[in-house]
Order: sequence, then structure tokens, then C-alpha cells
Amino acid sequence: MEIYDVSMAIHKNMPVYKNIESKRPFLKRVKSFEEDGINESEINMNLHTGTHIDAPLHVFKDGDSIEKIDIKKLITKCKVLDLTGIKMVTEDELKVKEIEKESFVILKTDNSYRDEFNAEFVFLEKSGAKYLADLNIKGVGIDALGIERGQIGHPTHNTIINNGAIIIEGLRLKEIKEGEYMMYALPLNIVGGDGAPARVILTK
Ligand SMILES: [Zn+2]
Repeated sequence: MEIYDVSMAIHKNMPVYKNIESKRPFLKRVKSFEEDGINESEINMNLHTGTHIDAPLHVFKDGDSIEKIDIKKLITKCKVLDLTGIKMVTEDELKVKEIEKESFVILKTDNSYRDEFNAEFVFLEKSGAKYLADLNIKGVGIDALGIERGQIGHPTHNTIINNGAIIIEGLRLKEIKEGEYMMYALPLNIVGGDGAPARVILTK
């Protein structure tokens, strides 16, 4: 069995959304081996930094928080679609792919080949989101820190989440070829969280 880790490493120089300083993780040593006989650290990090899962609460005032997402929905077969070479993922790009109803879809784009935050990142455009929602997908993952950009009112988030589907952002898919995989996406169980960092593994 091949095992692929498609999560981002968490460190202070990692790419963060719009390069906003406050979104950088801050790791602080609070006990040291020299003084306390053990090393112990704490971390201060935005829940949407790095590879993470959005909870409905992220875009809906009274939406469910992350602990309410059924983890069984995140241990599932999924299909990686190779969408490299395009600027945004619209219905037209998705229509030519074979996407089964109620499947979990992972969008691999040029984002996976860039290690810096790029303001022009490839995103799921609203017509693409509607197309996936009409197929009743279980969820969608993308290799961008945001699944959409520059769309007033966040129609992509709203369409996907309103349809009961899950959004995973910040995947790293450079090594992953188009095809079917088993996915294990495990968000930290942060009660009340509007999202949570996750380690995401694909196997084949
Ligand atoms: Zn997010």
C-alpha cells in the first residue's frame, strides 16, 4: 500500500493566507529541559492556517462547529482530479471529468507547485461549486488556503456547505496523480471551532 501525506508542515515561515502575519503559527517553549527537566511548548495558531477543515460555523452564523462533523465522513474513498494548467475551476473544467454522485472530490491545481502564498491562487469558482453540489458530493478538498477568492458573499463556501458537504483547504498534492484513493482526514476535535487543522493522508 502506498501512503501519501498531503498535509502542510506547520512552522513560522509556512505560507499563510494573504501573508497576514497574525495567521502565522507561534510556537513558544514554556518549559525547557535545562530548567525544568522536560521540554514543553504551546502553540498559537489560526484554525484556518495550513491544512484544515472548515466547519459550517465559518460561513454561517449559527452553523455547526467542527466537533459536530461526523468523522466517518472524512474517512472515505476520494477522487483526485488533475486540474493543473487552469486559472480557476469552473463547471466547464469539471464537466469533462468523471465525477460520481455522492463522491469526495480533491482538486489538484498549479497551487501544489508553489511554496509561497500567491494572491492569484487557483480556486473553485461558483459555477464549479454549483456543479459539484448538484452531484451531491460528500466533500471537496483543494490545494489552496482558501477554496475561493474575490467572490462577493462567498458563494462557493455557501453552496458547498449548504449542501451538507465538507471543505478541506491547504492540501499539498504535487506527488499525487489523478485517480481514486482512500482518504483519512482527521481534524482536531476543537469544541466550538469554526475550523480545525487536520492531518490528511491518502492511500492507494
Ligand atoms: Zn478555512
